[in-house]
Amino acid sequence: MAYLDHNATSPLREAARLAVEGALAIGGNASSVHARGRAARALIEDARAKVAALARTEPSQVVFTSGATEAGALALWGAVQGAADSRDTGGARITRLFVSAIEHPSVLANAQAVAERFAGLKLETIPVRRDGVADIDALRNSLREGKGRALIALMAANNETGVIQPVADAAALAREAGALLLVDAVQAAGRMAVPQADYVTLSAHKIGGPQGVGALILGEGVPFTPPVGGGGQERGLRAGTENLSGIAGFGAAAEIAAGERYGSALRDHFEAELKEIAPNAIIFGDESPRLSNTTYFALLGISAETALMALDLDGVMLSSGSACSSGKVKRSHVLAAMGVNDDVAGCALRASFGWSSTEADVEAARVSLENLLARVGSRAAA
Ligand code: PLP
Repeated sequence: MAYLDHNATSPLREAARLAVEGALAIGGNASSVHARGRAARALIEDARAKVAALARTEPSQVVFTSGATEAGALALWGAVQGAADSRDTGGARITRLFVSAIEHPSVLANAQAVAERFAGLKLETIPVRRDGVADIDALRNSLREGKGRALIALMAANNETGVIQPVADAAALAREAGALLLVDAVQAAGRMAVPQADYVTLSAHKIGGPQGVGALILGEGVPFTPPVGGGGQERGLRAGTENLSGIAGFGAAAEIAAGERYGSALRDHFEAELKEIAPNAIIFGDESPRLSNTTYFALLGISAETALMALDLDGVMLSSGSACSSGKVKRSHVLAAMGVNDDVAGCALRASFGWSSTEADVEAARVSLENLLARVGSRAAA
């Protein structure tokens, strides 16, 4: 088995599994004052410190959630409502919501929903260049041309292409314009330094932690009205009994990921092999700075569906880009935003490497792809 789909989910690390098991054995509620409750609280605060270190921030700014989807939704709804509520204290309403065209569907869908719900909030798309990088000049111009307080959503690195986005430039523009910045750092964590912003989202399962847990990093004093009320957990910012075992596993994975910058050797080796067996293969975003673990490529004439099935039969697990809940291959909105035509986009395959990847995985993928090319080639010649 060659698992090359770490951007979809990175298998649970041993340290994270042990932390999950340890937490499950405690059986206390972190809000209880008795010994078991205190033990649960200690685990959560230990994990909070580790996640804060990964995000290069203070533990008090970490809000645990059920994943990055929820964290992004909380940030969008909470910021817009929070800014509206802050008018009593001299704050300004958010009237412009800029979202890059290549954000994860969780951000795109919630941005759309927020814009529909709040009268006077205009949704604007930050276009993306052919090289997969968000067009910061277009954002600068739009910010200058329009009026009103803005919230900008720009991911640190794209999950499909791995292309690293100009978040530092966006942060400078936001400062200049008095705008707020939301950064989806899900794929950045453990692969590059996590950028700082007003709102940052993280997900445990992309760094070898458990699925179903993540965090929203809230900047000091940023507008935020919690969309969900309840028992006051997470300082009242995210109600609901904490996912103790998930959080403990997240902490363990974050501690390792914080000290790790996933090396590029395997990805680079894979791309070298790919160019050897398929000289016409297209590698998307390869002229831009990319995460060193990701390669997104197309073998022209071989659909992603066909390739994924053939690879899977050989035990080689890649994906076609963003994992879709229906399990079907969906046309990529990221490639569409980069101006890639549907024929080419329909052949897009992503290999993403991580802590468990080995040279043997690269070799298995090369052999399987080579066999596929030979089969398709002989069919084409027949
Ligand atoms: N943002 C990006 C860039 C992702 O790759 C993912 C994972 O699919 C998410 C957000 C959603 O994270 P989660 O699965 O924790 O909800």
